[in-house]
Amino acid sequence: MKTTACGECGANAKVVRGSYPFKESGLPNVVLQGIDLIRCPKCRTTDPVIPRVNVLLRLLVVAVVSKPYRLVGEEVRFLRKYLRMSGEEFSHLIHVDKTTLSKWENNEDPISHQSDRLIRAVTLALGDGLKDKLEEIVRLFGQIEESRSDLRIDINPGEMSYQYA
Ligand SMILES: [Zn+2]
Repeated sequence: MKTTACGECGANAKVVRGSYPFKESGLPNVVLQGIDLIRCPKCRTTDPVIPRVNVLLRLLVVAVVSKPYRLVGEEVRFLRKYLRMSGEEFSHLIHVDKTTLSKWENNEDPISHQSDRLIRAVTLALGDGLKDKLEEIVRLFGQIEESRSDLRIDINPGEMSYQYA
């Protein structure tokens, strides 16, 4: 059995393969599949070993902007943060009221279909390492359907692949 020292207390911790709900992303339904988890018997915590965080985040952005359903609030916030923009800067850029953006991000109002597509396109154009995906993903815009809040995004960091579940 693989073991390692716990990052918190230094105790001998078990390393197991498993799935991990990636709450740190700020997104509600993202699960990392087949990654190493460090289980400390003393702290009673499970810490994921997240490989290549930047590459993983970019993959997650691609999964979000490619999804065939309307964006939910947490996804709008996640994309805005990937662009390293404040609510003020971002709302100015896409020409909506700051309050409107805030209502979208907090799921108080559904995002309009046109703004949904605009946010995806802006993310692809300005986000790190995404420009080569712009054309391919914009061409999928016609397939975006109504909302589906129960959609899960499974990310496999080993294969750098994703799927919707
Ligand atoms: Zn520990």
